[in-house]
Amino acid sequence: MDASEFRKRGKEMVDYIADYMENIHSRRVIPEVQPGYLREMLPNKAPRKGDAWKDVMKDVERAVMPGITHWQHPRFHAYFPAGNSYPSILADMLSDAIGCIGFSWAASPACTELETVVLDWLAKMIGLPPVFWHEHGIGGGVIQGSASECVLVCLMAARHAAITELKNKFPFVEEGVLLSRLVAYCSKLAHSCVEKAGMISLVKMRELEPDESLSLRGSTLQRAIDEDRKMGLIPFFVCATLGTTAVCSFDNLNELGAVCEKENIWLHVDAAYAGSAFICPEFQHLLKGIEYANSFNFNPSKWMLVNFDCSTMWVRDRKVLQTALTVDPLYLQHSHSDKAIDFRHWGIPLSRRFRSLKLWFVIRTYGIEGLQKYIREHCRLAKKFEGLVRKDSRCEVMGKVQMGLVCFRLRGHNYRTQMLLRAINMSGKLHMVPALIHDDYVIRFAICAQNANDDDIIYAWNVISEMASDVINACES
Ligand code: PLP
Repeated sequence: MDASEFRKRGKEMVDYIADYMENIHSRRVIPEVQPGYLREMLPNKAPRKGDAWKDVMKDVERAVMPGITHWQHPRFHAYFPAGNSYPSILADMLSDAIGCIGFSWAASPACTELETVVLDWLAKMIGLPPVFWHEHGIGGGVIQGSASECVLVCLMAARHAAITELKNKFPFVEEGVLLSRLVAYCSKLAHSCVEKAGMISLVKMRELEPDESLSLRGSTLQRAIDEDRKMGLIPFFVCATLGTTAVCSFDNLNELGAVCEKENIWLHVDAAYAGSAFICPEFQHLLKGIEYANSFNFNPSKWMLVNFDCSTMWVRDRKVLQTALTVDPLYLQHSHSDKAIDFRHWGIPLSRRFRSLKLWFVIRTYGIEGLQKYIREHCRLAKKFEGLVRKDSRCEVMGKVQMGLVCFRLRGHNYRTQMLLRAINMSGKLHMVPALIHDDYVIRFAICAQNANDDDIIYAWNVISEMASDVINACES
């Protein structure tokens, strides 16, 4: 494809995307295909000669679209939102065209520098203390590919710091022996990526019981630490969650932070979904205790209109992170290494996309006020949905509705709610996923679509309410 064809096809693609977005409601939110469907529709070998562009696009509609779950659909209420906006899509196009691989400052200075500027903007927008800002030269922020990566990287930095400290105290003890004594903590409601980070890092991850408000408390953590110290273990890392995946509950950061400080433990805070809401001052009270944190992450690619991938992470002390992750072959060194930031020392991959561009485009075009309006509207709609559920005596709302997620169930045995969710998803009228809160099976209703409105909420509730009647009748007959 040459530049003149690119101009033509590019314009057509923009039209295709705009049509897709504008007419997405006319598609079925989840596909009806079976595993392996696509293999039957496509040749089993790559073409020897290039296919015509129009044939490729024809196959997008014929073969790909029927297998798409439409995350931007107004009837999509599963998981959490997948960030999406036109400024973000366009910025990613530009990033793809520039095509730089910004692993070090020298590998593309603007790529690194824009990331530090925008991460400072974002830190100020959500109320992170100055110690986390690049501007102050001690901490700083970085973009990773996922929240899972952020948690893993911070756990690895904490593990490295803990083992280095122990090695100084006990120089003749093998590192493997020291590692076997380390223990980390999180709530039972922490995302599964925390357990996975423990698996990968070979450290014990103890999952602690949250209280009746589904919040992990300082006293629970303190008890676990005391028990483990008595057994000769060495507590070194806590992952607190602000906005749990199952129910969007909040651990008590202030209490956990005080315990971590007293016990010399690295405190990481995972706010993958809820972090975006801290742009609104009325939610920042949930960050109380953040001054104790060593590291923090959230996903603008969930709830801040930025397309995947864009997970932002900050550390209080960049040296500790870099020490854990630095490997420095000659071919990656450059003459500004002493003054400039090389993000290759802040994460796992070497190669990095120019992701700060889309964050910058989104923040600049919406402005803080535009982003606040978007978040507040989602929270208002969640409250509206909660009100409808609460008016129906057959249902109960589980947990506190604080942001854009409502968890509810049919009263009585779990199988009633399971049957309801299965019926709804099979109908293709809405898409939602379940969670377990203690032993209760709940349906998670997340506000996801960028321009979700009152009619969408009323439509969803009418579908749910009607199907609830069918399920209850079927259970009783
Ligand atoms: N942490 C929390 C609280 C989440 O809700 C999620 C995903 O929903 C994750 C971590 C994992 O996010 P990612 O897919 O970016 O790894």
